Amino acid sequence: MSAIEALSETVALSHRLLYRTGLATTRGHTSARIEGTETFIIKPWPHIQMHRVQAADLIVMDFDGNIVGATRKITRVSEWPIHAEIYRARPEIGSIVHTHQRWATMLGIAGRSILPVVGADLAAPVAEAVPVLDEDKSLIRSVEQGKLVARRMANAPALHLQNHGMVFAAPNVETATLDALQIEYQAEMTWRALLIGDPATIPPLDLRAAVEARAAGVVPEAWESYWKWVDRHPEALHRRTADI
Ligand SMILES: [Zn+2]
Repeated sequence: MSAIEALSETVALSHRLLYRTGLATTRGHTSARIEGTETFIIKPWPHIQMHRVQAADLIVMDFDGNIVGATRKITRVSEWPIHAEIYRARPEIGSIVHTHQRWATMLGIAGRSILPVVGADLAAPVAEAVPVLDEDKSLIRSVEQGKLVARRMANAPALHLQNHGMVFAAPNVETATLDALQIEYQAEMTWRALLIGDPATIPPLDLRAAVEARAAGVVPEAWESYWKWVDRHPEALHRRTADI
């Protein structure tokens, strides 16, 4: 298997994990930069149930939105500029995930920060407040909107698209996918803690090692359990939330 084929397998797996963990059903997409090129692997339309996504379903696009090497009739994913413009702006980013996941999106709507509240290794992607894009609430379909997303996100691991969803960017597919999962968990726990009191947060010093490992592209140990148990044995996980 070539490196690109292996990367495609991981991108496909990311979609299945987002589905199994309740972060997406048909909408949402994971992409991966093909190293050394201005192209990336992404899932095209039509939106199929994400637990069905396989490597053969994916396409390659360039940063201008052209489909590369298509052998069948396909339509590019509508929000491709999110991916292209973040890759263009941030050479260190190897993968991007976009979802409309429930709890994280809800805190963005409410204008409340997702706090680092559970587990230093889990909370690393929210060690800093997640920035918010609040001046454009429509789908990100134009290059101009994509550039706005990249500007608002700056060097952050995640971005709220207020009244829309979330964007995650990381050195690799595994980290970007786990960021989406872990941030959803931190968001849900932040919200529940806010309902009953003043949430205590994990101090920055306790988060530092995990923050540095994440930025360096170290694949979290949790990845193995997700692909082994959630993808191969979906009955082991009860989906918790989203139908979006
Ligand atoms: Zn969207």
